[in-house]
Amino acid sequence: MVRLAELPQAGRTITSIPLRATLASALAVGAGGSSGSLADKPLLKDAFGRLIIPGSQLKGRLRHECEKLARGLGWAICRSPDPERMCPQREGSAGNFHRPEYQVEGYAGSHCLVCQIFGNPALPARLWVEDLVCEVPPAALEPTLRPGVTLNRRRRTAEDQRLYLIETSPAAELTFSGSLQLLPDCPSWGKTLLLAALHHLIALGGSKSAGLGWLHWDPGSLQALQPTAADWAFLAQGES
Ligand SMILES: [Zn+2]
Repeated sequence: MVRLAELPQAGRTITSIPLRATLASALAVGAGGSSGSLADKPLLKDAFGRLIIPGSQLKGRLRHECEKLARGLGWAICRSPDPERMCPQREGSAGNFHRPEYQVEGYAGSHCLVCQIFGNPALPARLWVEDLVCEVPPAALEPTLRPGVTLNRRRRTAEDQRLYLIETSPAAELTFSGSLQLLPDCPSWGKTLLLAALHHLIALGGSKSAGLGWLHWDPGSLQALQPTAADWAFLAQGES
């Protein structure tokens, strides 16, 4: 739901961070179930038939990396994605969530650093993540079907009757581009945490253990996230 009061107001600008990622291996992105494709896990495409890595998936992975980094710096961080275990309720979370840094003007309760960027049921996100769209036009791409097999984790054997096909991008060095949109009230240290998280995000999509979806970020495209000394100093205060 979009609340008008939460939309950016005129004169307060959104910071747009361009993102470009180049694949080092083929990409398997997609939900289960086939739709007009032979594959059980078809690649996701937008309305123009272009391959995409959904923004929702990228946002989820970024949040997870930011949580690990902030905890590593000594900050108390809630446990997404279960709403009851997230700020401001935080069932079962230990740690000092009552530091002044966790107060957000205009919102009751306390909200950890990660919630202040990615949001929670009581606090709107200050970050929008757009889909990453393949720069190569669809007509020039020949998707590849790869066979896979479902493994039984308990017995550590391949399941009978569970051979499936994964549709992947060709194993070419495809480049995808999109952007992060930081809303005007996104804290300044958020850029620094996001930059560190992007450096930790080295694969996207499914079947990473099969070597699919490894990527690297274009360093030039991340320049708008360049951290300041003040932002590093703030993040380093987690243990205090
Ligand atoms: Zn939180």
